[in-house]
Amino acid sequence: MAQPGDFASTVKQQADIVRIVGEYVKLRKAGAQNYSGLCPFHQEKTPSFSVHAGNQFFHCFGCNAGGDVFTFIQKIENITFPEAVRMVAEKLGIPMPKVTYSSPEEARAAKQRGGLLDIQERACTFFQEQLKRPEAAHAREYLKSRGLTPESIAEFRIGYAPESGFLLRDAVREQFDDDIMRESGLFSWKDKEQSPVAGSQLSEKAGAPTSNNRQATTALYSKFRNRVMFPICTEQGKVIAFTGRTLATDEKSGPKYLNSPETPIYSKSRVLFNLDKAKEAIRKLDYAILVEGQMDCITVYSAGLRNVIASSGTAFTEAQARLLSRFSKKIVVNFDPDTAGAAAAERSLALLVSEDFEIKVLTLEAGFDPDLYIHKKGTSAYTEALAQSQKYFDYLIERARALHPVRTPEGKVKALDYLLPHIQRVPSRIVRDELANEISHRLGIESAVLRQELRHAATSRSAARVTARPAAQLTDAERVLVRALASRDLAHAPQSAREGLDPDFEPARQAHFFLTQERLHQGFAGQSLIDALLTAHEQGLDPMSLPLDDNDRRLVASVVMEDHEELTPELLENAVRSLRKRAILRQLDDLQHELKDAERRKDASASARILQERVRLRRAMTAIGDGTS
Ligand SMILES: [Zn+2]
Repeated sequence: MAQPGDFASTVKQQADIVRIVGEYVKLRKAGAQNYSGLCPFHQEKTPSFSVHAGNQFFHCFGCNAGGDVFTFIQKIENITFPEAVRMVAEKLGIPMPKVTYSSPEEARAAKQRGGLLDIQERACTFFQEQLKRPEAAHAREYLKSRGLTPESIAEFRIGYAPESGFLLRDAVREQFDDDIMRESGLFSWKDKEQSPVAGSQLSEKAGAPTSNNRQATTALYSKFRNRVMFPICTEQGKVIAFTGRTLATDEKSGPKYLNSPETPIYSKSRVLFNLDKAKEAIRKLDYAILVEGQMDCITVYSAGLRNVIASSGTAFTEAQARLLSRFSKKIVVNFDPDTAGAAAAERSLALLVSEDFEIKVLTLEAGFDPDLYIHKKGTSAYTEALAQSQKYFDYLIERARALHPVRTPEGKVKALDYLLPHIQRVPSRIVRDELANEISHRLGIESAVLRQELRHAATSRSAARVTARPAAQLTDAERVLVRALASRDLAHAPQSAREGLDPDFEPARQAHFFLTQERLHQGFAGQSLIDALLTAHEQGLDPMSLPLDDNDRRLVASVVMEDHEELTPELLENAVRSLRKRAILRQLDDLQHELKDAERRKDASASARILQERVRLRRAMTAIGDGTS
């Protein structure tokens, strides 16, 4: 967490969370200081994700994700706190001080990630250099035969992994230690069981204290040999892995395409090939073209269609769908579900439907993939085919009709059975109902009963998850005090939040004064939250970054987000007055019980004392007055 005065808190003060979150989520102004949008952390159709400019925090009332600008960046980029601080600082152009970490493990993990990123980058340059060497003539020939220009080769940083297993190792071993090399996914090794005798003989011969380490790195050899190398990058364009396409013709050389294994920086299911280069175009054009292979992707991109990405032959994952949805929720899928990757394509489409993407399907003539199509027929033919792409459900209905001729009742039932599971994945009930109608029509279902059944089957999908707003657990007065305590020191608030406000009015300080003096919140629903906020105020901590439990976090978020009424000194005074009354009413209530008790015991002196106390409290009540209404 950011502590006052440290670098993170300096960065936080300069960061505008609305602008930074806005780079990932389309935000709409929803109040004087708050903005809302579709949550990037869970799937939803109506916005429950809010960002507050004044308090510089976000909260999702759907999945309960929330926090400050760093929490947001950590979560969406899947990085550690120090990395998030660094990233936000970079966005703002604030120079980084020497890095400090909150724990040795954190420092180790960050160092490891840094080392792994560096070694991938180094390897990428190495492969690019190798491609220019005389020994790589056959690799250049292969790329030429695939129609790749020198410009595309440079832009995609395509390289060549030499036949020798040791060149890469020798190129990087001075710069990187053994652990990083082993974890990079670039090398293989044989773990030789060495007897202690053999080992000691070896080191005696070598005669150097580093001999053990040297011996270890010597055992490493390149995983990728005699392959054309395609780097795989993060969304920011950092190399994290490779795909190597073999140039060997014999069977022994391993698979045609070899991918880097999963490493601490590379998880196949979270990466989309070419997203780094395509993201701006996807955002601008508001749709993405999804192709299967990397070569398809490079060809389509080089043909000038910049909004193309590849799934790299595996089924689309939820993480990938979320990643893509930050740029657009419209997608044209250009792979043929009838070919080899049919099952993966089918799963990808199913997932995209359930993640509420607007999908079109581009079907090229049989036997053509995008790469071949562009090279044989030209870019304009491909662009034309793209414009002709069909809505996914139109495409499915056509397929159903082709598979199950619907002239007979049996055919109709089979076609329906084929379509139903697809329809049921659509998150929106309204859309499902429309689809059911459309299908009845297109399949020629005349029977009203059958139509009704179809609509029922389509719409009676398991009930959608209801995202309830936090219950009104706090009274209006408590809500005002929570807002006051959570309000920022005006000196640190952005200019936009200061406009039109009384500079002498410090709601947090005043609320703190009343509450600590009189403990007016004692014993009520908001007590634990208010106590936490009081402590935060005393210690100068950001009230929105407190380690609260889920319920309190929701409470404070809902109170701060609903800023329809301006927080004025009058509002605060009225709230305090109302809390005082409530406290007195409660004491009067307690007295009533005590009085009954005393009377039952026939304790006259106790009764007299209680009655006296009651008079005092009633006077106090009158003194407070009716300022509350
Ligand atoms: Zn959410």
